Amino acid sequence: MIIILKEGVSANAVDNILGKIKDAGLNTHMSVGASKHIIGVIGDTTKINVGQLMTQEGVEDIRRVSEPFKTVNRKFHPNDTHIAVGNGFIGEGFFSVMAGPCSVESEEQIIEIAKSVKASGATCLRGGAYKPRTSPYAFQGLKSEGIRLLLEAKKITGLPIVTEIMSASVLDDFADVDIIQVGARNMQNFDLLSELGHSKKPILLKRGLSSTMEELLMSAEYIASGGNENIILCERGIRTFENYTRNTLDISAVAMLKRLTHLPIIIDPSHATGKSYLVSPLVKSAISIGADGVIVEVHNNPPMALCDGAQSLTPSEFDELMKDVKRRVEFEGKKL
Ligand code: PEP
Ligand code: MN
Repeated sequence: MIIILKEGVSANAVDNILGKIKDAGLNTHMSVGASKHIIGVIGDTTKINVGQLMTQEGVEDIRRVSEPFKTVNRKFHPNDTHIAVGNGFIGEGFFSVMAGPCSVESEEQIIEIAKSVKASGATCLRGGAYKPRTSPYAFQGLKSEGIRLLLEAKKITGLPIVTEIMSASVLDDFADVDIIQVGARNMQNFDLLSELGHSKKPILLKRGLSSTMEELLMSAEYIASGGNENIILCERGIRTFENYTRNTLDISAVAMLKRLTHLPIIIDPSHATGKSYLVSPLVKSAISIGADGVIVEVHNNPPMALCDGAQSLTPSEFDELMKDVKRRVEFEGKKL
């Protein structure tokens, strides 16, 4: 971090600024220029209250020269993180396919879908039990009963399960869940993130609707700084002016995040596009760009789905897609 001082700053003001940095336990390096002086701050600048420092007399500007995320930063942890889930791993060298309905609707529905996605080669079963819906009048999910049904499907198929949490108050319901999803709308629910930092469970953290990559990484930092580094990031499309697709898949985020962090990154082509016929091309793009997997909505009867039918593949469409995915993943030298 560097602090740029105003021209003609008084010696008293400089002493005051240096004192504040020293009080935070950090060292400084002063560069004296012809007209402007700059203070370099050396050490862990997360301890600095930038807002407070900005208001000190003599400060013109403060600029960060290193990223504010530390634990999830690849600079401090060059090796890719691998997360053990079920009998496999999520991370570099693997391509995970999480598939299932937007919402768990009934025992018959989730078990039928679980069996079919397992037969097609999915590595994990997805299904929403606690559903964040834009309208309070829309189907809100089967909640704890939905999780019980997912666990039934897991027992029958052996597939690990991923399902969304909306509040830490229901964390007990997730005791046997393999991956806890934090949805786009809760990406900055900091109390929830901190609570999940105390758990050891893998967390699937989805990018917020209008969040920057740095905000996504800072949310991951909330979880990681609590001691839980089992985090999978998910690019699920962001809000733009485009209306033909539900969101805009920021495919470059996958490559950028791979540079910035050691955490695995998957994409969600279903929520990114809102259209089932766009899912397959985006899955191909995910493999090509080096994503560590995808999360795809599959429904046994999309026209009757209680949520997100238009973006859900049928089991046979998913089966076709998986044949192609297997060939491409093998070509890339990765394991499913
Ligand atoms: C979901 O995965 O069911 C979901 C609600 O996704 P998102 O949080 O990305 O909108
Ligand atoms: Mn959905």
